[in-house]
Amino acid sequence: ALVEARSAHSPVRHHLVGPEARDIRRVADELRTAIAEDQLLLAYQPKIHVRRQEISSAEALVRWHHPERGLVLPGDFIGAAEDGEVIDLLTLWTIRRAIDDQRTLLAAGHDLRIFINISGQLLADQAFVDATCRLVAEADAKLGFEVTETSVIRDPESAIANLQRFADIGIIVAIDDYGAGLSSLAYLKQLPARELKIDKLFVTQLTSSNRDPLIVRSTIDLAHALEMEVVAEGVETHAALALLTVMGCDMVQGFLISRPVALPALMAFLEEDQHHHVSRDSRASFNG
Ligand code: C2E
Ligand code: MG
Ligand code: MG
Ligand code: MG
Repeated sequence: ALVEARSAHSPVRHHLVGPEARDIRRVADELRTAIAEDQLLLAYQPKIHVRRQEISSAEALVRWHHPERGLVLPGDFIGAAEDGEVIDLLTLWTIRRAIDDQRTLLAAGHDLRIFINISGQLLADQAFVDATCRLVAEADAKLGFEVTETSVIRDPESAIANLQRFADIGIIVAIDDYGAGLSSLAYLKQLPARELKIDKLFVTQLTSSNRDPLIVRSTIDLAHALEMEVVAEGVETHAALALLTVMGCDMVQGFLISRPVALPALMAFLEEDQHHHVSRDSRASFNG
């Protein structure tokens, strides 16, 4: 029992994925089992629309409840899933689960678009794109896909064509981690994206750095000029939120508002938010 308790709390990073090919294969095999045996779960982190003061969407972030290692975060297995070629299975699982959860939310009166992270290599995987389009169209789901610009670089032509296919069936494409990877304004111009997410690298130190506010402000202006809405990720303080609001940032996401949480906690958060709205509305009418 002692050993179990210790392994559940020890940093998984050191045990799970080494640099070696056999580690990748082992984790990939374990992930196939994890998908089959329902060891994966989704945590949801809401995005708040600043001007409308409403939660219009949430991002689904995968977690792995590993039978021996406890809760494992995506940073410790997505890379192996990509290299070990189970990322297509994992992502299809994620999309299915998000569609199910969206139905649950809708039944409770919460109409939320759910965003899913899509690895770059999948944008060149025709079987994945076909399966995904079929799944989303059949379910009539309201989804968004988050992709990094870097993911487009390997095979820009098929990536852009496939993102367009997603956009054509109503999936909103968001550019994730903007500014942190290999950014190219040439791709920014061509991608059928409607949202741009500024990487938390520029947001977490926003009010204690000289340069970050300048970078964030000019990124917001650039995105608006390209008719995209801007999301700031990694909003941790009221000071950052205030500054982002002044700068015209459209949406915010971060620990200040909510950590990524399981579906029941997301629903509780949404209920609470509705009550705030109700009390705000009644106060407004009371005051004439
Ligand atoms: P991401 O898509 O950029 O997600 C944002 C990450 O920042 C999440 O980490 C989230 O928990 C964390 N975060 C949110 N708010 C704050 C904040 O205020 N401060 C700080 N310091 N961090 C914050 P997480 O869940 O560990 O996910 C890490 C990355 O793993 C994600 O980055 C995404 O690239 C990838 N990922 C997650 N789920 C999936 C998935 O289903 N498929 C794929 N391909 N990748 C995924
Ligand atoms: Mg993301
Ligand atoms: Mg991000
Ligand atoms: Mg990130």
